[in-house]
Amino acid sequence: MFDASYDAVIIGGGNKALITALYLQKYGQMKTAVFEIKHEIGGCMAGDESAVPGFVHDQHATDIGDFWFSILEDDFPINERGYEWVPYIVPGGGIYEEDGANYIISSPFTDPEQKLTYASFAKFSKRDADTWLALWDMWANKGGCDAFMKYLHNPPPADPNEPDIFETFLMTSPEFRAMGFDRSWFLRTAIQVMSDLFESDHLITGLIRIAHSWNSVPSDIVGGGLFTLFTLLGLTRFGGAKGGTHSIAHAIYKCFIEDGGKTFTEHEVKRVIIENGKARGVELSDGTRIEAKKLVVSGLGPHALVHDLTGEQYWPWRVLRRIKNLSYWYAGGIAWATWCTHEPPDYLAAKTNPELADVGWLTLGSADPWSMPLSHYYKRLGLQCPDMDMVICNHVSGDKTRVPDGKWSFLAEDYSAAPPICLYEHSDKWWRDYKKAHIERQLQHIQKFATNMTWDNVIGVTMHTEYDVTRMLGSLYKGCWSGVDQNPTQVGRNRPIPELARHKTTIEGLYATGVAWHYGGMCSASQGYNCYKIIAEDFGLPMPPKSKDRGY
Ligand SMILES: Cc1cc2nc3c(=O)[nH]c(=O)nc-3n(C[C@H](O)[C@H](O)[C@H](O)COP(=O)(O)OP(=O)(O)OC[C@H]3O[C@@H](n4cnc5c(N)ncnc54)[C@H](O)[C@@H]3O)c2cc1C
Repeated sequence: MFDASYDAVIIGGGNKALITALYLQKYGQMKTAVFEIKHEIGGCMAGDESAVPGFVHDQHATDIGDFWFSILEDDFPINERGYEWVPYIVPGGGIYEEDGANYIISSPFTDPEQKLTYASFAKFSKRDADTWLALWDMWANKGGCDAFMKYLHNPPPADPNEPDIFETFLMTSPEFRAMGFDRSWFLRTAIQVMSDLFESDHLITGLIRIAHSWNSVPSDIVGGGLFTLFTLLGLTRFGGAKGGTHSIAHAIYKCFIEDGGKTFTEHEVKRVIIENGKARGVELSDGTRIEAKKLVVSGLGPHALVHDLTGEQYWPWRVLRRIKNLSYWYAGGIAWATWCTHEPPDYLAAKTNPELADVGWLTLGSADPWSMPLSHYYKRLGLQCPDMDMVICNHVSGDKTRVPDGKWSFLAEDYSAAPPICLYEHSDKWWRDYKKAHIERQLQHIQKFATNMTWDNVIGVTMHTEYDVTRMLGSLYKGCWSGVDQNPTQVGRNRPIPELARHKTTIEGLYATGVAWHYGGMCSASQGYNCYKIIAEDFGLPMPPKSKDRGY
């Protein structure tokens, strides 16, 4: 007996599953209901008030590519419902601690030929500036970006022996081969791939540090180089959601409701009801039973899917072993702080390069390429790395709605932070003390680059660590912001494990999505869309009309 009945029942109203729900309701014509444990829909799309009233703090996702939600812009009226993507004025850049040297990467929207980036890189090496232009030509004009977009917005191939879209591009691009690509690059580390391309240590380090925000694995990990290179190119098209990432959740929610979808907040799903090997619905923690006439979609992590929502008895031995042995520790240990200030940081280096003041994703760290793997080694040992591996996110230059008139804020991301909680357990008090000390460490680091960043300039600061992430969401197991790490054994067809990579499970009628699925971390629409694609194949459902033209 069931208390309510829908065609599709969705577990968790976060980023990915909410988007699958949106497609199921509109294009799949299924009566769809979302059950969310928290008081509101959106999960990691959570731009909220910070420690200081009137300042927006993106508790989780903040750095958003135009292509994160471009498919939703095609397929739903999300722009009319409040979603606006605001590009960074200058997408990337960095200042080095040792000598104040600096670089910028200009916006492809205002500098499509990358003349400003060329000039900036040429200060370090003319050869490296030429390499950037060759890479850019391959990315923008010779199919690199198109292939990467198709890779992101398609599930991995059904046949695990077939190359995926990205691998096919790499193997067949004459431009990439002319830059020195050979098969060994599939095994090369980020430091090795970047060193094959560039000669300046400053640039190698700065560019790896920008890309590290996305891939978040050590730059000496075998096989991590190509993902680093392409995430770097992707990051040139980043910015933010006007007013904070919450506005994305609001826009999606409105479209879903207008299309007839139902959401139930403060409704915790306890388990999936499985009968005769088939998912029949879900049971909530208050005992209510909800029927799923056609299917159930889980938006939680792989660990919760197997152990909490279902049970070990439903899964093959190898699946259980692989879930148990997933890696979570690289992306754990991130400190995510919104600094609310009177004035923007007045970077010393901006006196000679004013564009630095408008850089959206600004790296502040050492010029030594080995400084980044070092911070991971410290974390692995449970120690605080003395060097900071920091990026400053500046949304306010392009979006003043995030702060009260005349005020400023920025977000500091650093990976030199606390020991990952999948390896080390600490008490609530330990975390409170840690945060206090780490806020001070962050400020001291920023002061080396901008002397006006004293406590007099600070109105308040909100710092989130993996401890907060774990407690707030429940879906990011052990506080790993990318669901599971994005090391080469956990990306593409291997994400989270090969057996689950195509969103379908061994339990009939049970599908799974989330950030732990291909293509990886970040708050894009792709995993939700890819999950719909697989369901559409199984149930013979229509695809959105624009999917044919865009190729995904
Ligand atoms: C600190 C931090 C910084 C980040 N920065 C960026 C960034 O700058 N750019 C970017 O693109 N991405 C960023 N991300 C990553 C990205 O935001 C997330 O990884 C992604 O959005 C997660 O999506 P999801 O749907 O898998 O999970 P979620 O969005 O977490 O959705 C899961 C939902 O399920 C709900 N839930 C859990 N258990 C239950 C249950 N039993 N019953 C019902 N509901 C339940 C949760 O409350 C949640 O709403 C960041 C993440 C973190 C943590």
